Parts: sequence; structure tokens; C-alpha cells
Amino acid sequence: MELPQRVLCIIIIPVIIFIATEGVSRANDDWQLNDTPPEMTDDEEAALGKQVDDYIRYQFYVEDDPEFNEAVDNIVQKVAAVSDRNTLSFTCTILQSPSINAFSAPGGYIYLTYGLLKFAQTEDEVAGIVGHEVAHASLRHASKLYHEIMEILSHQDKGIDDAASLLLLNSHLEEFEQDADTTGVFYAHKAGFNPTGLLDFLERHFALLMRRRMFGMPSYGATAMIGTRLNHLREYISNLEKKE
Ligand SMILES: [Zn+2]
Repeated sequence: MELPQRVLCIIIIPVIIFIATEGVSRANDDWQLNDTPPEMTDDEEAALGKQVDDYIRYQFYVEDDPEFNEAVDNIVQKVAAVSDRNTLSFTCTILQSPSINAFSAPGGYIYLTYGLLKFAQTEDEVAGIVGHEVAHASLRHASKLYHEIMEILSHQDKGIDDAASLLLLNSHLEEFEQDADTTGVFYAHKAGFNPTGLLDFLERHFALLMRRRMFGMPSYGATAMIGTRLNHLREYISNLEKKE
């Protein structure tokens, strides 16, 4: 069984890369998949994030135009300042990749591709994407995910059903994405950006993906997943606007 393709946010990938290249050590033998996972300390998160960051910088060319970086960093710092984890120092790296993607590593590392920034039409859209990534850090998703993956790996040699574990992990991933969407929109809004930025961006990106897939085999699972995510976001934004 494979995890469905992540659209836009691939927070899981840096975590998996880390696990694949490093040895596995478990923090707590008593931890169960259904319980609240233990969280990493800020120092542990920063150490894990630094290793992921070294790997990303080894894999990608980084955009070094100072003006471009400053414009994006300005948005990142505004959104991070109003987040629930504004004590963390957030850094944003622009990767020279034409693909449209954004992801984050533990410890406040955010990555946006050049393709994403080119596809974005307004600062509000970029703020929405950044809000989503800052929310992953605020909600400590990478740390929670890391422990879930450890748990699955530790069960593999005990003959526990991998498919069931992956299904559970995937349902948590969906939950993380939706929580990061709504929390991120809230942060972007609080920082003075239009709260529809993320939704506008995702809708256009979804339309682009559908056009590209017109002659291929559309994946029903992925389409349904994005549809659910967009609906959840629409509902949240309409409630946010009603409160004003
Ligand atoms: Zn995400």
C-alpha cells in the first residue's frame, strides 16, 4: 500500500528522508499509536531540522537573489510573529525548482519552490501558503509524525499489519493538513493578509493538476482528498468572515 500523493505540502518527505538515512532510535517504549505522541523538545526539533536542512541544501540549488529573498522573508516574519510559536526562529529558503511545492522541516525551516512563487498571483496567496507551513510548526506536526513513523517501523518486525498502520498514519496526515490549512489562514488573516489567499492558490493549483491529468488516469483518491480539503477551507473562511 502506498501513501497517496501529497499535493502541495510534503511535510512527510523530509521526515522520511531523515529516517531512511539515519539509524532509528526510539524515545519511549511505552508509546502506543493511538495515544498522544510524546513531543520533541525545541532543541531536539532544531537538531532534527538542521539535519533535514543540510540534506535539502545538498539536493537543491537555492535562490540567492537578495531582493527576492527579502520580499518572501518579510511575509514569513509577519505571519510567524502572530503565530502560537513566535519564539521559534523561522527561516524560509527558496529552492530553484520549477515544481509548485512548499514544505517544512522541524525547528522552523520552511521551503518554497521558485515554481510556487511564480504561480502565486498575490502576496496574500504566498502568506496563505506560509501560514500553512508555520501552522505545521506551531501544531508540532513534524514531531508527532516522526513518532508515528517510528512506531510503525518498530511494529514491522513484530508482524503487525503494515497496511492498517499506514491507513491510520494517512488519516492523521489528512487531519494535519486540514488543521494546518485553517490555523494557517487564521495566522495570515491576523497578520493583515486576505484570508482567502490560500484557498485561491489551492483552487488554481487543483485546476492546473486536473488539466494536466486530462489525458492520464485521474486518481479518484487524490481528487476526493483535495476536494475535502478545499471544502473544509471554504467553510472555515466563510465562518471567519461572518465573525467580522
Ligand atoms: Zn501541509
